[in-house]
Amino acid sequence: MSIKVENISKLYGKQRALNDVSFEVKPGEIVGFLGPNGAGKSTMMKIITTYLPASEGKVSVCGIDVNEDALGVRNLIGYLPEHNPLYLDMYVRESISFVAQIHKIKPTKKLLDEIIEKVGLQVEQNKKIGELSKGYRQRVGLAQALIHDPKVLILDEPTTGLDPNQLTEIRNLIKTVGKEKTVMLSTHIMQEVEAICDRVMIINKGELVANKSAKELTSITTEKIIITVEFEGSIDKNKLSKMEGVTKITEVDENTFKIESDASIDLRNDLFNFAVKQGASVLTLQKEHQKLEDVFKQLTKQK
Ligand code: ADP
Ligand code: MG
Repeated sequence: MSIKVENISKLYGKQRALNDVSFEVKPGEIVGFLGPNGAGKSTMMKIITTYLPASEGKVSVCGIDVNEDALGVRNLIGYLPEHNPLYLDMYVRESISFVAQIHKIKPTKKLLDEIIEKVGLQVEQNKKIGELSKGYRQRVGLAQALIHDPKVLILDEPTTGLDPNQLTEIRNLIKTVGKEKTVMLSTHIMQEVEAICDRVMIINKGELVANKSAKELTSITTEKIIITVEFEGSIDKNKLSKMEGVTKITEVDENTFKIESDASIDLRNDLFNFAVKQGASVLTLQKEHQKLEDVFKQLTKQK
């Protein structure tokens, strides 16, 4: 197992940031660690990367316990922290070379060229980090995280603060890099998980509330179908709400309604017949599938 987390709890004073969290990440997986702000994502990542001790529980990375051999674990991990501190006065190439030396790796021209090419910093390599956009600074962070060729990459909100173009580029980069490594990335953006990850773990208020493949998650939690229907001509709302199978009805505007039913019931035919009986007709009829985004909201809503 690349990452094994067993019954981890973390208290900051009296505040419980993580509560009995357990999960595993297999070699080669790209796993999304999803949760709203304050859910405990960064705390979990700091524990895995040995920068913070847990209050209870056990974590190992490629079989090495974080408490027994922190340096051993750090050698196996490439970590991009949430607010990655970079020396703005350093030159890009110089900063990567600097991090290589921290890892006791000789920063040969070949090694630096390779890593700079991998993260797409060829044009910027001789600039100062302070002169780079946020997207390019993240590339520098990734280069630093990758320089010692770690087996596992831990990326804490790697795309936060990027513009849409940068976002796509960094996602693609993570996907490419992820082909050869185990990746755990945190995000509060649902589409990110859909775009990059094989699996998603959702954390809310320090507890793991879901751990599924993206596909599984949607199918399991699809409890309802929502149909938006627009009638031409007025209909009796009361009768509509009494139609068999309807669990909830919301008026969008005068002749448009959102109609909810159990996931096993498709009301589209009945709605057509209803309109005919009412002497009206159906202008639009749209069936919504529950999206991963909705599942996320459902699982992390305030209790
Ligand atoms: P996330 O990364 O999901 O936004 P964090 O792991 O940063 O969440 O935080 C989880 C909870 O722990 C939050 O309520 C946060 O305020 C609290 N917390 C994080 N770091 C500290 C700290 N150093 N001291 C006290 N509380 C903290
Ligand atoms: Mg965080």
